[in-house]
Order: sequence, then C-alpha cells, then structure tokens
Amino acid sequence: MNTAEREPLLKIEGLEKSYRKRRVLKGINLNLFPGETIIIMGPSGCGKSTLIRCINRLTEPDAGQVYFEGVEVTGLALPPLSVLRRRIGFVFQQFNLVRRLNVLENVAFALRIEGLPKEEAEAKAVQALSRVGLRERALNYPVELSGGEQQRVGIARALALEPPLMLWDEPTAALDPILVSEVIEIMEELVRSKATTMLVVTHEVGFASRAADRIIFMDQGMIVEEGAPATVFTTPTSEIGEKYKKLLKT
Ligand code: ADP
Ligand code: MG
Repeated sequence: MNTAEREPLLKIEGLEKSYRKRRVLKGINLNLFPGETIIIMGPSGCGKSTLIRCINRLTEPDAGQVYFEGVEVTGLALPPLSVLRRRIGFVFQQFNLVRRLNVLENVAFALRIEGLPKEEAEAKAVQALSRVGLRERALNYPVELSGGEQQRVGIARALALEPPLMLWDEPTAALDPILVSEVIEIMEELVRSKATTMLVVTHEVGFASRAADRIIFMDQGMIVEEGAPATVFTTPTSEIGEKYKKLLKT
C-alpha cells in the first residue's frame, strides 16, 4: 500500500502520560492510514491500554496531540468529543455490557443515543448481530451468554455505529482458550472485508501475523519496533520482538 500521499485517519504526535510522576507513555508517534490494521504488542504494564484509551480520551493524555480525520481530538471540548467518540468503536477486554439490557438493547443503545428511532435502531442492531453470528440470541441477557458470545455482542455494539476506526484492547484476553477463536474469526473477517480501520492490542501472535499490515512492539511506554509481520516476526530488532518471535514458533 502506498501511504506516502494519503492522509492518515489517525495521527498521534508526542503523546505523553504519567501517573504520579511515573511516565507510562514517553512520547508516542503513530500514523494509521484508512483501511489499515495495526496490531500493538508488548508486555503487561508497558502502556498499551493507556495509549489506546488516550486516542478518544477515555484517559486524558498529559501532552501531545491526537488527530482523527484531521480534527485535533486533544483540543476538543466535551460536547464535540462525545460526537467524535461515536465514530470510534471501542472493544474492551471485559466486554462492558449492560447487564440489565438484553443483547439487542445493548447493541441498539448507542444508536438510540444517536437519535435513531427505535425500529431503525433495532433493525441496525439485528444487522450487526448477524455479522457476529448472534442474531438468534437477540433477546438473551448477557449472563445467559458465554464469554465469547458476550464479546461478540461487544463487537456488534461497536460495529453498529459503522465506525471508520475501531480500537480493540485485548479483546480475547478474558476468554477461555476455546472461546478465543470465535472472536478471532470475526476480527479476521472484519480485516478481510476492510470493514473498518483497526488498531488492536493483542498477544495473539498467530492472528497478528495473519491480519496485521503493521505490527508495533511497545516496551516501557515507548514504541521499540515497527514493521510488517513478515519482517518483525522473522528478523526482529528489539528484545520484545525476539520474545514474540519465539512465541510464534511454539
Ligand atoms: P498495558 O495495557 O500495556 O498492560 P497499561 O496502559 O494498562 O498497560 O498501564 C501502564 C502502566 O500504567 C502500568 O504500570 C499501570 O499500573 C499504570 N496505570 C494504568 N492506569 C493507571 C491509573 N488509572 N492509575 C495509576 N496507574 C495506572
Ligand atoms: Mg492493557
């Protein structure tokens, strides 16, 4: 892909975040181009969640800029920020479903907030649930679903808004190994169909090597290596890259 003359969908410049003087993000720079899938990997505690949560300011960065579709997110007041957030889907490790709402209502909820009439919101929600293979479970409640199914609802909820960008924070980390593949399959289908641009934090090396246009390795709040999977998993230059390479072989 020739990215040289294209505008990035997401541009991150000099992003910094500290908790009590401990620097968790130490000047992150990153461009994400339309249609790309970037996968972020790195050891627990290196700042991956903080980085992706800073993009739509679920976590407030201390310094640096984030631009989405050319708009500076870091400069926005809350009302326009809320509008912009609806264009960025977020899939959480812990699903974050609303327990007292059924599956359909969980997915339709954000569409209703968008101002869509009930029927239209529900029609779109059913469509999104079909994409993750859960149309039949629309009237179930989250507790009645397996972890994998709950996460698929989480994906449908994000997809329903047809976001140009989706952020994924270890979407399979809370799942039993057997349930991981059903979520991975859906993610790969989204990548294949170029449904959206994706920034994914995951430790799933197999998925990463198949799906990523670019892999980013983070360590201690910095990007330590970046490149195509074929490169970084075969001839890594960083210590972290070396560790993931070994993981891919096992
Ligand atoms: P990762 O997602 O890579 O595991 P995180 O971004 O969650 O890492 O965390 C990076 C570091 O920041 C960790 O040391 C974590 O303990 C710390 N941290 C994250 N969130 C907070 C918070 N709200 N308050 C204090 N420290 C935090
Ligand atoms: Mg994390």
